Amino acid sequence: MKPENGYIALIANPKSGASSRKRLRRSFQQYLRAQGYEVRFLKTQSLGHACDLAIQVHQDPECQMVVVAGGDGTVREVAHGLVGSDKPLMIIPSGTENLLASELGFGDKLSTLIQTFEAGYTRPLDLCTINGKCFTCVSGFGFDGEVMDRVTKMRDGHIDYFDYASPLWQTFWSHTFHPIHVELDGQVIFNGPGMVIVGNVTRYALGLYVLRHADVSDGLLDVCVLKCQYRPHLLKHYLTILFKRHTRCSDVIYQQGKHVKITSPSKKIKTQVDGDPGPPLPADINVTPGAILVMVPQEYKPEGTWRRLLRLLG
Ligand SMILES: [Mg+2]
Repeated sequence: MKPENGYIALIANPKSGASSRKRLRRSFQQYLRAQGYEVRFLKTQSLGHACDLAIQVHQDPECQMVVVAGGDGTVREVAHGLVGSDKPLMIIPSGTENLLASELGFGDKLSTLIQTFEAGYTRPLDLCTINGKCFTCVSGFGFDGEVMDRVTKMRDGHIDYFDYASPLWQTFWSHTFHPIHVELDGQVIFNGPGMVIVGNVTRYALGLYVLRHADVSDGLLDVCVLKCQYRPHLLKHYLTILFKRHTRCSDVIYQQGKHVKITSPSKKIKTQVDGDPGPPLPADINVTPGAILVMVPQEYKPEGTWRRLLRLLG
């Protein structure tokens, strides 16, 4: 990466993130300019606009790299706009959960961003689609979809972890576990009440290690079915996930594949995709191997639960 090879596009969602995250973005922008790079700051007006901006810079031969500052929704849309491009994408985590950035080893330190940029190490990133719409991290069907539906209805601007507390509590006491039918690569792997998580990153909300065998570059989707009908059973699942024992349990199905189809006779199942409300069922989920290139810290590992909690408190 050299300044004379073209400009760096910085696509940022001005609405996402606490002020500390905005400072991180500004500091990295100043660093790039101090190194002689031309940085073009592109402010998003909506998620769709983020995708449009990414398509524009993807097609611009003068752009050599794209940096996105935003939450998982903005990152997803920019990644979607870059599919097929050889321009590397770097993420400045600026949302509440930052699932993909945390999976790729980015915390909230400027030094990590600078070291990553200077090392220039990239790896391919698979992208997933649900009913043709792109996502990067995880989709959920059932309980967590209902939590996200409540969060969205209560949302007023930027949200933080505490905004999940009331929806989580309300959903815990009112949720009905409807039957869900799951097919993986044409084989039925589950048909019954429960919740399903499908994705490409190991860590879920607050760093829970749900899809523990997931790899962002292996060309596979990880599927975790939690068989569940009653509230105490959901608590049991939570504890086994917390202690990383769930994949050994007989009431959990964990498999990998390339195509997942989820249906239900019930119309009441809510879905979530990368922390936003997802489409109604039926859902067809696919993976596109190596869809984009991401710049990552060398020898990175996903940020763990305690570091995420400390970040929340700090
Ligand atoms: Mg994978």
